[in-house]
Amino acid sequence: MASVTEVETVRGPVPTAELGVTLMHEHVFVLSPESAANWSDEWDEEPRVTEAIGKLTELAAAGVRTIVDPTVDGLGRDIRRVARVNEALPGLNIIPATGAYTYADVPHWFAQRGPGALPDLPEPMVDLFVRDVQEGIQGTAIKAAFFKCAIDHHGLTAGVERIMRAVGKAHAVTGAPVMVHNNPGQDTMAHVQRVLDDEGVDPRRVLLAHVGDSTDVDRLAGLAERGYLLGMDRFGLDPILGFDDRVNTVVALCERGWSGRMVLAHDTSCYIDWIDPNLMQFLPNWHYLHIHQQVLPALAERGVTQDQIDQMLVTNPREWFERT
Ligand SMILES: [Zn+2]
Repeated sequence: MASVTEVETVRGPVPTAELGVTLMHEHVFVLSPESAANWSDEWDEEPRVTEAIGKLTELAAAGVRTIVDPTVDGLGRDIRRVARVNEALPGLNIIPATGAYTYADVPHWFAQRGPGALPDLPEPMVDLFVRDVQEGIQGTAIKAAFFKCAIDHHGLTAGVERIMRAVGKAHAVTGAPVMVHNNPGQDTMAHVQRVLDDEGVDPRRVLLAHVGDSTDVDRLAGLAERGYLLGMDRFGLDPILGFDDRVNTVVALCERGWSGRMVLAHDTSCYIDWIDPNLMQFLPNWHYLHIHQQVLPALAERGVTQDQIDQMLVTNPREWFERT
């Protein structure tokens, strides 16, 4: 494969050398349009778009040049809405994804389209994912730059495996890298390794999202050694794993020489309708500025060098999108 030094963003291709400080897993919006339309009037387009522009303006002012947004089918992706937000943010790149997000069954739309239908049909997901990368998302010219799928506490269900294999095959066609949502407490990474090895995906093009929810440094080092990029990407989601544990894990992996295999993020959003608004008060650190305000100073205090921080925020994201 030819070397690629540009990456698609919501505003078109950008040289990878210009991505700068990159948060590797942040959503703009996470929405459930059908449920929201049925059960609530919480969603109000104009104020939410304005609010998002405000939050992302603050993020750009903190020095972040790029966010990688893994919002796909199942998370309420609407690329035109993200483009509206991005129009007002000249200093911020937003990198879009394609794929499907489920912990169990495929989205119902796919249930009787493809393998498992009565009778079995060819898999339509591969062509759809490739179309998003090569032609554009949702009828726009905005192209996806990477693939996203998920595996969680249900393990490798038929639906999860179907999507993961479609992502692997779409990767083989396009070369775009692969991000997988994991649950490290269930060692979902072992399934990811088996399926994506089987699909011929080089671990160096695979980002194991959410493995930073684990403090098992030996196991994380083993994944890094195989070449995977480790998503230390839920800073601020303290009820899942607290600040000190997250920082200690990154410090320990840096001490072992793995700063070249980690990326940092919060997995937050400008607005998410999956959580009762009254619960957000229990997540005071789950916002876009937590890494710059609290995490980076703590890492520096613990001996992580500026070079190592630059690797995690600049070099590693850039190299994941480049192909050689
Ligand atoms: Zn996410």
